[in-house]
Amino acid sequence: MKYGDVEFDTYLKNYPDKNGYFGKYGGAYVPDDLKKAMDEITEAYFTICKSSKFISELRRIRREFQGRPTPISYLERLSSTLGNVQLYVKREDLNHTGAHKLNHCMGEALLAKYMGKKKIIAETGAGQHGVALATAAAYFGLECDIYMGAVDIKKQAPNVARMKILGANVVEVTDGLQTLKEAVDAAFAAYLKDYKNTIYCIGSVVGPHPFPMMVRDFQSVVGIEAREQFLEMTGELPDAVVACVGGGSNAMGIFSGFLNDPVEIYGVEPLGRGKNLGDHAASLNYGSEGIMHGFNSIMLKDENGDPAPVYSVASGLDYPSSGPEHAFLRDCGRVKYDVIDDEETINAFFTLSRLEGIIPAIESSHAVAYAMKLAKKMGKGSILINLSGRGDKDMDFIIEKYGIR
Ligand SMILES: *Cc1c(COP(=O)(O)O)cnc(C)c1O
Repeated sequence: MKYGDVEFDTYLKNYPDKNGYFGKYGGAYVPDDLKKAMDEITEAYFTICKSSKFISELRRIRREFQGRPTPISYLERLSSTLGNVQLYVKREDLNHTGAHKLNHCMGEALLAKYMGKKKIIAETGAGQHGVALATAAAYFGLECDIYMGAVDIKKQAPNVARMKILGANVVEVTDGLQTLKEAVDAAFAAYLKDYKNTIYCIGSVVGPHPFPMMVRDFQSVVGIEAREQFLEMTGELPDAVVACVGGGSNAMGIFSGFLNDPVEIYGVEPLGRGKNLGDHAASLNYGSEGIMHGFNSIMLKDENGDPAPVYSVASGLDYPSSGPEHAFLRDCGRVKYDVIDDEETINAFFTLSRLEGIIPAIESSHAVAYAMKLAKKMGKGSILINLSGRGDKDMDFIIEKYGIR
């Protein structure tokens, strides 16, 4: 199947190229020292990911520790309110720790172990990536340093407690605005000082090569399982696949299973409070090409060309860019990217909870809201939604801000 010049029969083998490019997007825009460290990880990954020992160990971990495969659920009650379209969800909320993030964290930590590293390092904003990585570190007996802005540490007390209980070292970052951006800088600086003994573990399909490729590969288990399960359940492929896009890892996971199929694919970005810069985080819908955090992609910029402040009711979608592969899939027309605002998201959050007994993460609620709108437009057929995580982490916030609807 072809879109523009891009052949999807062989897509996953050919993209990214050996320098980490998806067309003009991706690459590794980092200082020389860091480039050396990235090259070392790339080389190790290409060797290790082909070893049958690594593959079978990762498979066993997914089955015995993570609880994979996660099921697909048919949303019978919700579908019946929307007419003649059947809605299904891939249940990443049932993955251990309650979201898709553990899929790539276990892969990255296993790679660290095979490379003989003693410590894994990362930054975290809302704390979800930190908790998933601290879980992986505990499992493999690796040291774990999580860099977090002082402001975020105060806001996200339950996740900070979780990381500490899991044995991770939470490093408070007090530079600048004391949030995610400063935490990224501090984590990279720490990594540069000690890249012989440590490995940096990025939380999405972003950052310099090889991370967008590696994280996609580790998440592709979601798409592989989902395609097989959906065929088995219904005898057909879904007509559409929908996922929310922050950095874009859960979306790349499920999309990768359907890129070469006659299936419409939709990525959903957070429109937040509206279209003005600063009120949303919909980079693929409103951004332009630029380089940040070591990669070239589509990003939201301020008047100086720096990453713009962004907002979303879902802290996991609150990022001024998206992975380079999403920029590429947008440009060639394979994936459509659209937006859902805060209000539509919160409605979908309560609707799925009430009609199906599944409390979704606020991030995932963006995808649910979009699928509900799409169902009305389609009139017939089927939609598969990636339910990237569960909403337990969002309870206090929802009750405080919205009350019980
Ligand atoms: C972190 C997170 C996201 C956003 O990350 P992506 O890389 O865009 O998938 C989405 N859903 C949940 C539940 C998350 O925790």
